[in-house]
Amino acid sequence: MESVKRRDFIKKAGLAGGAALLAGCASPQETGAPAVQTRKKYEWKMVTTWPPHFPILGESAEHIAKWAEEMSEGQLKIQVYGGGELIPPLEGFDAVSAGTAEMCHGAAYYWAGKAQATQFFASVPFGMNAQQMNAWITSGGGLALWEELYAPFNLIPIPAGNSGVQMGGWFNREINAVSDLHGLKMRIPGLGGKVISKAGGSAILSAGAEIFTNLERGVIDATEWIGPYHDTLMGFYKAAKYYYYPGWHEPGTVIELIVNKAAYQTLPKNLQDIVRTAAARANAWALSEFEAKNNAYLQTLTQEHNVTLKKFPDEVLNTLEKYAGEVVDELVTADAMSKKVYESFEAFRKKMNGWAAISEKIYYENLSA
Ligand code: CA
Repeated sequence: MESVKRRDFIKKAGLAGGAALLAGCASPQETGAPAVQTRKKYEWKMVTTWPPHFPILGESAEHIAKWAEEMSEGQLKIQVYGGGELIPPLEGFDAVSAGTAEMCHGAAYYWAGKAQATQFFASVPFGMNAQQMNAWITSGGGLALWEELYAPFNLIPIPAGNSGVQMGGWFNREINAVSDLHGLKMRIPGLGGKVISKAGGSAILSAGAEIFTNLERGVIDATEWIGPYHDTLMGFYKAAKYYYYPGWHEPGTVIELIVNKAAYQTLPKNLQDIVRTAAARANAWALSEFEAKNNAYLQTLTQEHNVTLKKFPDEVLNTLEKYAGEVVDELVTADAMSKKVYESFEAFRKKMNGWAAISEKIYYENLSA
């Protein structure tokens, strides 16, 4: 090992000398300066909330590591661990806060138990879509609030992807009216689950691996997951009759990269920029992949697997939106930071809706199939 390191050192010293000559600088011999400034290498760990190599989401984490290593020419090396490989999937927040790992790739709503306001930085029912979330976070004050929320935990949040609008879910019962939600046992986590409970259903939590069997055996009547691509891979079309849209509960879930603040501050400026640049590239890549794959797999579901697509009736959506408002009201009444974040989120959303109404919305409505 030692000899290899020494060879590397000599090789780098040679390269650095060559670069100095090319740049027309004085050689180290002339200045008496050290022969070479070795670049300190950083070896980091990134834990994720996803199963190892999980399509798009786990892949995004791996891309961030690869891009950071390439951009830094090996100065920053990040080892990615799927959920459960180093720590359980939902312990990333604590692990990065404590410095056990330097980074976690996941989604902020997994940390609602740490701070309720995290949910506004992932997705809230009837909230903003991917484009609007990016606009709020990047250009509407969202990021500063997100940083404020995570600062007490020694964490820096960086947006790193978006699922786009998800699907409403797989149902073995037709939803023609709100009364059809009464007694419905649906696997749906978070605030969406609270909305379903207000509508008279029961929100069931089950781990990803158990959902298919629970649906097949009737332990649950319905489940949401993500969108056509991931839902096809889960095989839900074999266990449910109807595939409902739209995903009112997750209109654009933000994927996050969280970084241990102290570790981040030890990085030289160029590596800090590389981390942010890799995350920004992943942000664009993930949404593009979701869009392209969901489109392709929607065709597979309807044409090869004869899946019946159904839209939730307007009356059902309107009622769910009303309940979602109540759920968010309860959240912001109980938690001051949620109130502060929500005020920014909601003000931005309302203004954005005015713009969307005469841009994206009207454009899509007038497209021919
Ligand atoms: Ca989902």
